[in-house]
Amino acid sequence: MHFVDRSEIKNPPIEKLKELNDSHKPNWISYNKARSEKKTPLPIKPSSGWLHDQIRTPLKTLFLKNCGYCGTHTDLGNDAEVDHHFPTSLDIKAEYIYNWENYIWSCPSCNGMKKHHYPLLNPCLILDMKHIYFHSADGRYLYYKNTPNEIITKYENTQRYSNLNLKTNPDFRKYIFRDTTENHLKGLKMYWELYEVEAKVHGEASTEAKNKLDAFNLKKENFMDLIRSGYHLMLIKYAFDVFCDNQEFNFPFTIKELIEESKYLNT
Ligand SMILES: [Zn+2]
Repeated sequence: MHFVDRSEIKNPPIEKLKELNDSHKPNWISYNKARSEKKTPLPIKPSSGWLHDQIRTPLKTLFLKNCGYCGTHTDLGNDAEVDHHFPTSLDIKAEYIYNWENYIWSCPSCNGMKKHHYPLLNPCLILDMKHIYFHSADGRYLYYKNTPNEIITKYENTQRYSNLNLKTNPDFRKYIFRDTTENHLKGLKMYWELYEVEAKVHGEASTEAKNKLDAFNLKKENFMDLIRSGYHLMLIKYAFDVFCDNQEFNFPFTIKELIEESKYLNT
């Protein structure tokens, strides 16, 4: 679980949400009121307009097609869901039902476990995410010492009501973290340094330099295949930055540029 910066989406679907809010909010208020008063039969559940592509597509892009809670790939069979972080059932005044800030891209399994539970950690809140870290030796997300109690409560709820540290996720993350850092990035770094030596000695246009650049680009293509596989991309981004920091090395591209170049999000 890593910080997801909502400001990355330059044109969030605010107009569409306002339109939906204007037409459906009163129905949600009466529906939630009837439900809280345990009336039977309940009125028909109001429309879930957030399933519209105008909302799903930017949300999917923001989360790199990964579940905001467990990080797994959600684009297989287009089965991901729009989770209301503050659940619709608790939202008596219906103030957050058509609110962009309240939407988390979620796999059906996490969304199903989460249901009406609240509060959980919000990947879009830096105040939550700064207390959470990835433990590379066991693949789980943990919280730092001295984490405030209210964040620990959110963390415990997130462990209980999502797949954050469940199923094969921790093992798979360990593999991805190791595979990403040790194999792809070490190889990429080595090939880039070999290219730089040849370019310095023989010139950028020399055959020697071009051969090394070709080899580097082949490695880069392999790394982009890992990106295109779509699993735990937030973790891959994190692993990339950790590698650059630890090695005090910069690639001739950022991870964001590489994700764009891979065209992973275009499909
Ligand atoms: Zn999930």
